[in-house]
Amino acid sequence: MQILRSSFADSIAAMRLDRAQARIAETYDVKVGTETVALAIAVSRVLAEDVTAPISLPAADNSAIDGFALRFDDLRVDGPSILPLHGRTPAGPSPDAALPPGCAGRIFTGAVLPSGADTVVMQEDCAVIDGKLHIPQGIFRGANRRLAGEDLSHGKLALPAGRRLMPPDLALLAALGFDSIAVRKRLRVAIFSTGNEIATPPHPLRRGQVYDANRALLCGLLQRLQIDVVDGGILPDEAEATKAALRTAAGNADLVITSGGVSAGEEDHVRAAIESIGRLEFWRVAIKPGHPVTLGVMDGTPLLGLPGNPVAAMVTFWAIGRPLLDRLAGATSVPSLRLSVQCGFHHLKKSGLREYVRVQIKPDGIAYVYPKKGTGILTSLTEGDALLELTEELTSIRAGDFAPCIPLLSLYG
Ligand code: AMP
Ligand code: MG
Repeated sequence: MQILRSSFADSIAAMRLDRAQARIAETYDVKVGTETVALAIAVSRVLAEDVTAPISLPAADNSAIDGFALRFDDLRVDGPSILPLHGRTPAGPSPDAALPPGCAGRIFTGAVLPSGADTVVMQEDCAVIDGKLHIPQGIFRGANRRLAGEDLSHGKLALPAGRRLMPPDLALLAALGFDSIAVRKRLRVAIFSTGNEIATPPHPLRRGQVYDANRALLCGLLQRLQIDVVDGGILPDEAEATKAALRTAAGNADLVITSGGVSAGEEDHVRAAIESIGRLEFWRVAIKPGHPVTLGVMDGTPLLGLPGNPVAAMVTFWAIGRPLLDRLAGATSVPSLRLSVQCGFHHLKKSGLREYVRVQIKPDGIAYVYPKKGTGILTSLTEGDALLELTEELTSIRAGDFAPCIPLLSLYG
């Protein structure tokens, strides 16, 4: 009787996703040193050190509007007030001209309050008649005043080491006076597709071939993380060639990522290659899609084998690859945003498996399963909105149930 490798494979229990992620966090550490780069090119780079605020934001009390600065205590509480005008403070560097008691001074948005003033009234709310300012009743103390340090005060932590810098982080650093910043050096990641059927343009497709979607996917995902990509091309379904290519790539990169060839068929050579040139961390994770995802290591370089179906490659890149890349890059892994949505469909699932269902959120705010369910369906990612996350213990969801969903856009950041 012939024993298929898959029957042996089926006897190996898959690792829970949270266990695989914990294994990654325990096993891998930052692989890159630090360098200083201009803020203008720092987006998505990983902050190397804590940044404390060298100045307060704002640096001084200033006006939030165009109007008139005054002392609140000079206003009547039982009716409108009339104050003589004194001075003019536009935004920009200027010496302090103190506001004399009992006066109001013209002021513009962003200008530092003259000393003595604590309140600003909006120009639209008052009138200047015969050189005097008429102010209605009901202004409150400190109105329209931006306090020094109200955003962030001098010496406080602005951003922690390990933060992947997003555009607002760059704005904060710029506002604090930085024009360059210490970040982790870029990781170098080698990528391969595998499979005798995988083709690249401009060659016309022959019967039985498919164009390579996964290298384009991985290039895009890695570029979003400011990672240098070493494109290893396409490996044939052949054991020795796979081993040799992975061995060379591992000596040349911080991480090697392949797609395809990790299932249990005789034409799947990646897991066996990883096992023979290094050590297997895990093979098979209790996740759908993406069950056969594989992680190994050769001489300290991790080798990540993603499944070949593009949706499974995408989901496992996010679930396994991203936490791994964060460790290697010195980045703090931030859990993806989960929003609770109501489901507009029934779905049965196996217990013990973490499942990610591609959904569209329709204008009624309800999540509907993407009608084409295969893990090769690329349009489920281009037209879908989110992954519904169904935890291990669940065996079904029914229309009307709420479940956490992860916006697809947040998988790529
Ligand atoms: P495998 O995991 O190698 O058995 O591949 C599973 C499925 O994904 C097969 O239908 C492959 O043709 C397909 N596939 C594998 N690699 C790619 C790729 N780079 N681009 C598009 N489809 C792929
Ligand atoms: Mg294959």
